[in-house]
Amino acid sequence: MSKSQPRFSEIFSPKKSLGQNFLVNPRIRHRIIEACELEKEDVVLEIGPGKGALTAAIAAGVKEVFAVEKDDRLAEELREQFRDTNVRIIHADVLEYPLSRLPDGLKVVGNLPYNIATPIIEKVLAFRHKFPVFYMTVQLEYGDRIVAKPGSKDYGSLSCFVQYYAQAKKIFKIPPSAFRPAPRVDSCFLSLRMRPEPVHKARDEKFLFKLVRTCFNQRRKMLKNSLGVVYGKEEAEELLRKLNIDPMVRAEDLSLEDYVRLANRDGSKYPLFKSEA
Ligand code: SAM
Repeated sequence: MSKSQPRFSEIFSPKKSLGQNFLVNPRIRHRIIEACELEKEDVVLEIGPGKGALTAAIAAGVKEVFAVEKDDRLAEELREQFRDTNVRIIHADVLEYPLSRLPDGLKVVGNLPYNIATPIIEKVLAFRHKFPVFYMTVQLEYGDRIVAKPGSKDYGSLSCFVQYYAQAKKIFKIPPSAFRPAPRVDSCFLSLRMRPEPVHKARDEKFLFKLVRTCFNQRRKMLKNSLGVVYGKEEAEELLRKLNIDPMVRAEDLSLEDYVRLANRDGSKYPLFKSEA
């Protein structure tokens, strides 16, 4: 009896360096597709289609899918799988691919390679005027930091950065068993809805996020002390009082609006910040 040829998925060994944990649970796939609320006229950008676990299900409900995959073997296999369909496979590193080439108005979906989730999110946010919404699977702990509100232990510079540009919502938790190989940690599915404009606009966004990072780098310290390194202790205290912010509170107690007020008050006249720009 002749041996049948092994299927690609049987001989493929996942690369940890590319964050290859493939979704294998059809129930979770169904929940993800449902939560994306895709419509017939939508065009989707999928980041990291992998073996196409989500791709085919997305493609079935929309006009067109652009899927960017870095792995050579997977990209080749996907091209074969989706030949003559509404799926365009782009064999590229999404961090290098010029997203400006893609049409406007795309919805972005991705079960992200966890090790480069931050640069991917930064890149999509930089193109937020093209992409109204970004649905993603990330590590649960990381997702909690994205959606965290002031006063919680997860609230930090990542929460402020993402929430400045988008409305972030955790939709559901995903257990490790939904993936192969199973990651060591839980994951979650969440959405970022891009804001046409930030709710509270900073005059200088670079300065705002530098200020936020400075405060959270010493999250145990009272603000008058962490900001003391920027403004000088006395001036920091006075500035906080002028803004009706208690100088004794810590970084996690300030809302994004407070940080924007703080940043707008002083712009970048402080040499420490200027020299680091
Ligand atoms: N979407 C598939 C699924 O849900 O089963 C695969 C998800 S897996 C967590 C992440 C995918 O992103 C892998 O296919 C990996 O090869 C791909 N990938 C990793 N780094 C990438 C990059 N820089 N650009 C594009 N794709 C990347």
